[in-house]
Amino acid sequence: MPQPRKKFAQHWLRSEKALNSIVNAATLNEHDRVLEIGPGTGILTRQLLPLAQAVVAVEIDRDLCDRLAQKLGQTEHFLLLQGDFLTLDLDTLLVPFPAFQNPNKVVANIPYNITGPIIEKLLGTIAAPNPHPFDAIVLLVQKEVALRLCSKPGSTHFGALSVRVQYLAECQFICDVPAKAFQPPPKVDSAVIRLHPRPITTPAHNPRHLETIVKAGFASKRKMLRNNLKSLVEGDRLTHLLEQLNVNPQVRAEDLSVEQWVALSNELQGSG
Ligand code: SAH
Repeated sequence: MPQPRKKFAQHWLRSEKALNSIVNAATLNEHDRVLEIGPGTGILTRQLLPLAQAVVAVEIDRDLCDRLAQKLGQTEHFLLLQGDFLTLDLDTLLVPFPAFQNPNKVVANIPYNITGPIIEKLLGTIAAPNPHPFDAIVLLVQKEVALRLCSKPGSTHFGALSVRVQYLAECQFICDVPAKAFQPPPKVDSAVIRLHPRPITTPAHNPRHLETIVKAGFASKRKMLRNNLKSLVEGDRLTHLLEQLNVNPQVRAEDLSVEQWVALSNELQGSG
């Protein structure tokens, strides 16, 4: 095992059970082209290769890339790219490799220090969704993040991230993965999640406005929604709109469903 590097958030997965959960959640078939972020020592990559048509993996650590290339070789259906997933332009890099273009699934045990930016790059944002959405995204993430992504309104875990991600994708909690499933064990427990990007049934008329009110609405978790939105909407008007939407004006931000956030944004835009 190579010595794990802290700066790249390296924690090698060593649990067969966790590996199986990740692979099963991806329901791979021989037509799937998989993108893996942070293959590390290749433990997950090795499971993916026999099940998919092609796997393209992006790894930032040069030394690991050398080891992986030696171990797995650049076969017809495996392509290893060295670089920072967050800054590289995958579409352009894959132009010379037609067999790996437009991967349709993502399966990865990602570096936890960049979970938010990775998810944003995969899904896009409310105002700029990824124009080529993946069929499925299966990730191992910190349990805390998994709970936020998969929670329902009313839960203490339901926050701005939940609204932003659930606007773009169906989020499923697959299973818990304990810290001891890794070498070295991270400080936190983990979980496998699956995201299914899909267009929301009723989109926001002005996605930027929705982003603005969600950010402001969750600014202070202890306050009522109407107090968090004070600087954006006049109090009486908000109370009136919430009543129209059949929402108790005393609600907190975490009590509104994604659909209610959209409705609120659309009403505020319409009656502005
Ligand atoms: N998938 C492996 C390793 C997970 S650790 C396993 O399950 O054992 C996270 C991996 O992501 C490490 O290999 C790390 O080097 C890599 N990584 C960290 N930051 C990255 C980035 N910005 N782009 C691509 N890979 C990155």
